[in-house]
Amino acid sequence: MKIPAKGCNRDELFSTLEDYRKGDNAWQNGRTWAYVFDPGEEATAVIKQAYMMFLSENALDPTEFRSAVRLENEVVSMCAHHLGGGPGTVGNFTSGGTESIILAVKAARDHARATRANLGVPEIIVPSTAHAAFHKAVHYLGMKAVVTPVDHTTFKADVGAIREAINENTVLLVASAVSYPQAVVDPVEEIAALAAEHGILCHVDGCMGGFILPYFRRLGAPVPNFDLSVKGVTSISMDLHKFAYAAKGASVVLYNDPELRKHQFFTCASWAGYTMFNTTVQSSKSVGPLAAAWAVLNYVGDAGYLKFAQQLLDATRRIVGGIREIDGLRVLGEPEMNLVAFTSDEVNVFLLIDEMNARGWYIQPQLGHPDCPPSVHLTIAPSNTRWIDELLADLRVCVDKVRGQQPGPLVAMAQQALAAIPDPSAIDGTVLKQLLALAGISGGGLPERKADINQLLNLLPPAFKERLLVEFMSDLFTPTADE
Ligand SMILES: *Cc1c(COP(=O)(O)O)cnc(C)c1O
Repeated sequence: MKIPAKGCNRDELFSTLEDYRKGDNAWQNGRTWAYVFDPGEEATAVIKQAYMMFLSENALDPTEFRSAVRLENEVVSMCAHHLGGGPGTVGNFTSGGTESIILAVKAARDHARATRANLGVPEIIVPSTAHAAFHKAVHYLGMKAVVTPVDHTTFKADVGAIREAINENTVLLVASAVSYPQAVVDPVEEIAALAAEHGILCHVDGCMGGFILPYFRRLGAPVPNFDLSVKGVTSISMDLHKFAYAAKGASVVLYNDPELRKHQFFTCASWAGYTMFNTTVQSSKSVGPLAAAWAVLNYVGDAGYLKFAQQLLDATRRIVGGIREIDGLRVLGEPEMNLVAFTSDEVNVFLLIDEMNARGWYIQPQLGHPDCPPSVHLTIAPSNTRWIDELLADLRVCVDKVRGQQPGPLVAMAQQALAAIPDPSAIDGTVLKQLLALAGISGGGLPERKADINQLLNLLPPAFKERLLVEFMSDLFTPTADE
């Protein structure tokens, strides 16, 4: 495909774009329990207007775009107040939870390099339920992640295991508030105390829970202490593009000590161009996401967020109660915010998901892990709350429908084939491609029913799964062929 010889007409262009998204997840109807955090039309209009107003401004140079500095400092200040920050708390606005986490891990690495003699490869300790972004951070930063188990009933980090994993290269302990898979708050106070005792840093991942947990607490829910006011916590991340309803590309990372935050920054005076000083990973960046985040915080306001939180807390209680009443389903742990994971000891959850999918729902599969069984994950957003009764009714019907069903013969075949391979990570790319084709995946396309694929992935060792995913992506992102 080439750039069209002549520019095309505006109407035609937008109708093509509309066409392109016809096959997308139809989140607008409120039946998608993931990915989109929709605060309703009114707030969305405000978010869009603020975003477009600052679309072209470039936060690359904060001396030329002073509004960007002002907006960022105001957003960070609001977030610091929200998360128990003190007079010394500092932070930055980032493009998302992943960037916030990468920056906190970088700060920990560079702080250790600056303060410790004989540091080997710097290590961070992450409970198995901590977000994949920590693994991405060490991957990018030349560090190592040491994974510790979580309790098999509460799904909270095992503090004893963390204590045992600490060694002379440990630079950072990680706790989640909440963890994504089961939405529970790790024992932050104990983990932070352990970090302080060893003179190391402690990051709290509040990407998912940081914004809403303080509201849940004000509404009477039992929320453990998790924020910057906890002794030993040195940094925290919080996404605004989740339950603050900001446009995507909005998160913050905060530190209690400005000296620690300095290790997050990057400056470069050894090239021939403009003076380079970046607070975050990105360099040129639109001020749109920041302006939109500032706008939604100011538009919805504390009282508005408390109201949303009440709606979500009530919804969560109804859903958790409803699932517990369905024969064959089991809620994992005690969800501490408006995300719910459930599994089944009687039916295959991947078949259940396909069945729900066929009825117009999107619910998210989570593969099994040594610490948790395969499960279904629901993120409850305001636009979902009108569907609770229908969701529960369909779950009940679908559980009965898939009772006794097994995944297809492919899974058994693959299982046998795998058992015959001594080292699956040594298999070459062609074999992987054939395996993907067998599962109905080719050229990045996916079959309607995904239970077989999920069941297959569920069986594979992580290293093998990761290689399959690389093959899948490589196929998916292939330039459009010439006509
Ligand atoms: C969403 C999330 C993140 C980071 O996600 P992004 O997609 O980069 O915003 C990190 N931790 C938890 C617990 C999350 O839920």
